[in-house]
Amino acid sequence: MSSEASMLPHAGRRRRRTRLQHLTGLAPPAPELLDGGDWQVENMITGACTAMNDSAGGTMRAPFGNGPNALELQRHELAHVMISPKGVPYDWSKPLDTSIIRSVEDVRVNEFLTERGLPPPIARVGFGTKTLFDDYVEGTTENPTDLLLVAVSVLGTLRGEQIVDELYKAEASSKSVVETFRRGIELVRARPKRRESWRSDFARTIALASQLRELLKKWEREEELQSNVNWGSMEIFEPALTRTVTRLFRARKFRATSDGSIPVNPLRLYTDGYVFAIRRKHKVVQPTILLDASGSMHLPNVALIVREFPAATVASYSARARGGTLRILARDGRCVSATYDDTKFGGANVIDGPALDWLAQQPAPRYWISDGVVTEVDDNATERAARACAIKLRTGKITQFRQVREAIVELRASSRAR
Ligand SMILES: [Zn+2]
Repeated sequence: MSSEASMLPHAGRRRRRTRLQHLTGLAPPAPELLDGGDWQVENMITGACTAMNDSAGGTMRAPFGNGPNALELQRHELAHVMISPKGVPYDWSKPLDTSIIRSVEDVRVNEFLTERGLPPPIARVGFGTKTLFDDYVEGTTENPTDLLLVAVSVLGTLRGEQIVDELYKAEASSKSVVETFRRGIELVRARPKRRESWRSDFARTIALASQLRELLKKWEREEELQSNVNWGSMEIFEPALTRTVTRLFRARKFRATSDGSIPVNPLRLYTDGYVFAIRRKHKVVQPTILLDASGSMHLPNVALIVREFPAATVASYSARARGGTLRILARDGRCVSATYDDTKFGGANVIDGPALDWLAQQPAPRYWISDGVVTEVDDNATERAARACAIKLRTGKITQFRQVREAIVELRASSRAR
């Protein structure tokens, strides 16, 4: 006999046996030994968190028998009986609050088991859970709530930590969903340590649950604000990128040096003696620069940006009353010709929101060059449009500058730091 649960006698004083149990003869867990309560014990293959009832006793659902899977789930349920309080306030008008409390309480149950050398080795990833996780990795999660709560409840199991690490790295879903999910996991991982007895320590579950609740509510409020803004429709235009700066692009993979064995640049002997090349140690920066080309802003020379940062993507946008166009002006070391006319698309803002959504999906670092005056359809500058854009900057990790040259100064500094 290797575990606590398997040593418990199987005949409870007030046990009611189910028909299935009689048929299979598998041993059920015995929660009544822990609290003396009146328990209904049901054989259930996946288990379902119990024990948070109004008084002693209740219904425990867990797989019967003493196979390793069954014991693991029985232990989890029995741990609830030992440390989760009775009569947890359950407000049926706020089911979300109750779900959060249950998920966070599972983290504490896992801590309790780990302290006793019984960490659940494998998080039970059922079909529904797997679908939630797959959707997130594939980028189709639109609401982070269910994902976050399930991920939280597997934290503290051995394999669960790995699964959550992998989810933490995924970033295909919308930026606001990713931000909220990551923040939630960080909150749980940074939770304070236990200081009280396990039972009174339930206060820690309540504190963490209310932090998660705030986070999810904030996400809901911001989503609602975003959906209320009446942006114009946006299309993307890709003019021919006929100017090439390939020579410079190639040169930047190497750094000129006066010390080396292969002279690659002999003409430099006559200038600065830097005839050798070493491979650049720092990563080539791949910035994306989005230019607000509305009437208030004037377009800089795109070729100047590309010459210095050949991997940069540069786009501009502007609109008329109901909608506008985002133009790709440079990409992969090529840019529009010197005679390209970018002024024919209207001088209004109107599509700042969709343009920033586009920017958020491009390679980082991401810069938005704008005076920050944003408008909805009919070039209507509103407070909610401004707030929606502020949220997009935060979740999309976008830096705003008023002038291109400010972004270039920042880019130079960050490429030297690499
Ligand atoms: Zn549980």
